[in-house]
Amino acid sequence: MASAVLTVRGVSKAYGNIQALTDVNLEVPSGGIFGIVGPNGAGKTTLFSILCGFLGADRGEVLVGGQAVRPNHPPPGGMLTILPQDAKFLPSTPLGKQLKFYAELAGMSARDAEKEVHRVLEMVGLPEVYNRTGNTLSHGMYKRVGIAQAFIGNPRVIILDEPTAGLDPHAAREIHEQLRSMRADQTVIVSSHNLSEIEDLCNAVAILKQGSVVRVSTMDSLLQGATEVSFRLPDPAADDLLAALNALPYVAGARWDKGAGRLRIDIDTSALAADEAGGELVKFFVGRGVKFMDMQVGANLEERFIRETR
Ligand code: ADP
Repeated sequence: MASAVLTVRGVSKAYGNIQALTDVNLEVPSGGIFGIVGPNGAGKTTLFSILCGFLGADRGEVLVGGQAVRPNHPPPGGMLTILPQDAKFLPSTPLGKQLKFYAELAGMSARDAEKEVHRVLEMVGLPEVYNRTGNTLSHGMYKRVGIAQAFIGNPRVIILDEPTAGLDPHAAREIHEQLRSMRADQTVIVSSHNLSEIEDLCNAVAILKQGSVVRVSTMDSLLQGATEVSFRLPDPAADDLLAALNALPYVAGARWDKGAGRLRIDIDTSALAADEAGGELVKFFVGRGVKFMDMQVGANLEERFIRETR
């Protein structure tokens, strides 16, 4: 794994008697997209606020690019920016003017700020909004201008708190494409409740539950080590199909998961690896004329999330 650009060590935070974070430790590698997921109330917003220095931790420390983040101080020069969930622009001031103001606040001369604003608007595919006002944009465009703002000055770490919440699939996809195209030289930390989005976008993910990190993993290793193969079927699996599956030498157990609409088959991986078993099971289904819509080897992020945050 690449060296860490952001380190969280032993961070705890309480609001009165509500313990929002407890001994959180994280190493976010440099480069790529890192996901942070957790149910409502898990502590994501509190953690982001501490990463940015908006809030002080009760205990522990945060390092960005090796330098400590201090509460009530902006993170060390050009290192880290955040797009909060509810970021707003002034409704009737041209967006280019507002972004330029932020670029100047970040220390740029008027000329450099102007150039930088054109660069970031170009980057999010909206060069034409420079002279437009926020109240004339669609929700998706508005979010992209927010992302443009977060990229002003090319910080090393950009935190995007639910950047695609409430967007239609087209608008969300445009944001995904832009994030994918910028992942090489910068580190984006993104939170989302859309776990298939996190699974597609991120190289690694941390799962937060009740203020603690319950898992940090690269996406590959999270999805590896599979012992299950599952199939989406148009109808619930019949008893005779389950019996036939249970009789297969590499099947440890087969059951119909009503909630997910999937047939779940536990593999005896001492007999056959899960991916090979998947191939065998496809042949078995085709041979018996069993229709299925998809096959999945291992649990996807959503299933892991449900299990680990239950
Ligand atoms: P998330 O962003 O994952 O939904 P939060 O960081 O907002 O989680 O909240 C974590 C916990 O801290 C929750 O129990 C929440 O009710 C509590 N909390 C958050 N902000 C405050 C606050 N300003 N005052 C009191 N409790 C808070």
